[in-house]
Amino acid sequence: MVAEMAQIIDGKVISTQIKDELKEKVSKMKAEGTEVTLAVIQVGADPASSVYVGNKKKACEYVGIRSLAYELPEETTEKELLDLIAELNGRKDVNGILVQLPLPSHIDEDKVIQSIDPKKDVDGFHPQSVGALCIGQPGFVSCTPAGIIQLLKRSGIEIAGKECVVIGRSNIVGKPMALLLLRENGTVTVAHSRTKDLKEVTKRADILVVAVGKPKMITREYVKEGAVVIDVGIHRMENKKLCGDVDYEDVAPICSAITPVPGGVGPMTIAMLMNNCVESVDLQA
Ligand code: NAD
Repeated sequence: MVAEMAQIIDGKVISTQIKDELKEKVSKMKAEGTEVTLAVIQVGADPASSVYVGNKKKACEYVGIRSLAYELPEETTEKELLDLIAELNGRKDVNGILVQLPLPSHIDEDKVIQSIDPKKDVDGFHPQSVGALCIGQPGFVSCTPAGIIQLLKRSGIEIAGKECVVIGRSNIVGKPMALLLLRENGTVTVAHSRTKDLKEVTKRADILVVAVGKPKMITREYVKEGAVVIDVGIHRMENKKLCGDVDYEDVAPICSAITPVPGGVGPMTIAMLMNNCVESVDLQA
């Protein structure tokens, strides 16, 4: 019997679709006299952070969002950073504020996140944004899990009534992912480092979201035949190639749909950041 090929969920195509829709919206807003502006703050010159910040600027240009870059030196004090955020909170011409993480160790990240006006919190990390998601009120949603919902919806994958298993309970991926799947009426289980008999749990999943941070950990023994597998992990292998938390070669043949790495979840994160920037205008109105 020849196995049916899994549907490859193409995050490049879907993220471009979203950015193109936003581009049109932004150009209409401009015609009506509204400009969308994102302020991006980076403290220090961590090379990975610089790449992320550069990609965010590029996406802003593509969509037509004005971006203000604040590249602060490593020795910036917490007070200086909080003062800058306070200033940006007060500026009517700034819609979104993003502080690139991680911050240098002398700055309290939680304090910084909490200083951002929740109406400008386009990363969705502020406790008020997280709380709003939890009780179903309007607010910003963390970009990576929001992107995964878009991947599923735009690939025609139904969430309602499905067994959804999320591996990982981080604040930026696992927890908001579980809340979003619940909002879409999935039956949600969150598995984590202390879960007993992980395979038994993950094998129940119709939709399996893997955000475990371990290269190629998830092999086919963890996956039910015909499941949809979403791989959030990104790792650089010794041969410089990227891989995910899922052993793609092993798992792809038995599932109905799967995201590749690269080109799956990765490109969606920035697309959803752009979406949050555009939404921020309505939220502030
Ligand atoms: P994290 O390290 O904060 O969380 C990992 C989670 O996995 C933890 O909650 C832990 O309980 C769980 N875990 C660890 N070992 C386990 C095990 N053996 N069995 C079961 N559960 C286990 O990671 P994160 O920030 O949620 O990110 C996860 C992965 O996704 C990383 O590879 C990261 O690089 C990637 N990531 C990608 C994007 C993107 O845009 N594509 C965004 C954020 C994170």
